[in-house]
Amino acid sequence: MTTDKELADLIFPDVSETIDDLEARYPARNLKEGAEVTRFAPSPTGFLHTGSLFTSMVCRKVATQTGGVFFIRLEDTDTKREVENSRTILFEQLKSFNIIPDEGYFGNEEKGLYGPYVQSKRADVYKVVIKHLIEIGRAYPCFCTPEELDEIRKEQEEAKLLTGYYGQFAKYRFISNDERKALIESGKPYVIRFKSLGNHVKKIKVHDLIHKDFDIAQNDLDIVIFKSDGLPTYHFAHVVDDHFMRTTTVIRGEEWIASLPIHLDLFEALGWEPPKYAHIPLILKLDEEGHKRKLSKRLDPEAAVSYFIEEGYPSEAVIMYLMTIANTNFEEWIFQHHFKDMDQFEFSFDKMSSDGSLFDINKLTFFSREILANYTKSEITDAILEYAKKYNKDLETLIENDRTYFEEIMNIERERDNPRKDYDKYSNIYDSVGFFYDEIYGDLISNPSILPFNHEKFSNSIIKEVLQALYDNINLPDEESDWFANIKKIGGSIGFAENNRAFKENPDLYKGVVADVAEILRITLTCRKNSPNLYYVMKVLGLERSKQRIAHMISLL
Ligand code: GLU
Repeated sequence: MTTDKELADLIFPDVSETIDDLEARYPARNLKEGAEVTRFAPSPTGFLHTGSLFTSMVCRKVATQTGGVFFIRLEDTDTKREVENSRTILFEQLKSFNIIPDEGYFGNEEKGLYGPYVQSKRADVYKVVIKHLIEIGRAYPCFCTPEELDEIRKEQEEAKLLTGYYGQFAKYRFISNDERKALIESGKPYVIRFKSLGNHVKKIKVHDLIHKDFDIAQNDLDIVIFKSDGLPTYHFAHVVDDHFMRTTTVIRGEEWIASLPIHLDLFEALGWEPPKYAHIPLILKLDEEGHKRKLSKRLDPEAAVSYFIEEGYPSEAVIMYLMTIANTNFEEWIFQHHFKDMDQFEFSFDKMSSDGSLFDINKLTFFSREILANYTKSEITDAILEYAKKYNKDLETLIENDRTYFEEIMNIERERDNPRKDYDKYSNIYDSVGFFYDEIYGDLISNPSILPFNHEKFSNSIIKEVLQALYDNINLPDEESDWFANIKKIGGSIGFAENNRAFKENPDLYKGVVADVAEILRITLTCRKNSPNLYYVMKVLGLERSKQRIAHMISLL
């Protein structure tokens, strides 16, 4: 009679290592009390989802905050679903958000003592554990063909039973080792299945750091742990890897909650203590009817991390925004800390909503404006240049041709206590600053009929009168207040009230208010209704260029 041990040797004749050898190869980590070992475990099956960036941010934060270790493991056992280049892009994207692991796989390099960190290179480790499970009678070869599996499913559906390979339906559970041996020797293809002792009618109590305590049906599926391609399945690889990589807290997407009983079943069979679990809720979005739904790759550009990179949201802003989703108290904290020193914030799973949070692009834009306003002129120029090199060659040229001039533009009302928040994302910068460059300004102004003058209020002849008075009298003193006093004076000289109150008291007396004069000047100098502070715009352009633009506009109208 073939024993379990003999069957295990027949299946894995070359595996001589034992579980104890693995325990010695991957010793317990020598970390201080409370230090958490976390991991981000992406599969190279496509683009980096915003939810995955969110998860990786939480992993990084928890490890940093507790003085622990954060590592990355590439889960590439599903070779059929692998998307070309995605493993490289994934890591470039993580890097751009400063999600850098302490150890593990990172693009083309790997570091750390618990590797390899790429699952396809860990077959020898999995084989040792599977051999052990066969030896102790908790795993067996299954020779089911897809047709047989189909039949089982149909039978279960007809009997209105739970579908799957379990209990009496797990047909290759019941054959003898001699029969198994004969089938293997006859060359019949097989996979290895775990032998569960559970019963799905029973409930088990589980604890999740976010979802807290709940009951869930016990596992009784004899899941495939080793596929015919020689690689393990996710469930099995997760258990083995997180055990031997000494992960203390598994932080992963909520979609894995349903699989938790399988994982706990495997941990129990192996006699290993499971890690803590934190299942991160989905990021949601409101649809047109106001219903919450999952961020969708097909419908929502912001579901892909590449969107934020291509649109040019500063990575800090994205991370800061995601932290507001992660912890309900973060927003107030970061306001108090003037959008700085995010590392000092104490993250807590207790402050994470278990229901899923709504993604709000307006709030992200708000953070983006804050971050960009708080950069020095040189920092923002560096960041924009880096973006422009990849996504906007014209912008790159503008900056490279005269960096000092670009910095002057960026420096308008910056580096002060309450800096102006003129910019939201890098992809809008070219359009925002174009008018500072004579060539672009020339293009903008070539069609004066589309300039945003308020023709309902002012005819061309009044606009011209305003511009002529400005041309004749405008100056550029050292103080903004003197400059504005002069604009008021110029307005006054041609019938514009100094302020709204004066205008409202005697509307018939005036053509408009000084704000109208400023708007006409703004549109003339910038071709826009919104621009940075006009006085400083003139400072950058200089008095002569400003006057030339005024004269040119007069000639066009
Ligand atoms: N490779 C799995 C995924 O990409 C990871 C799940 C986990 O973190 O354990 O969904």
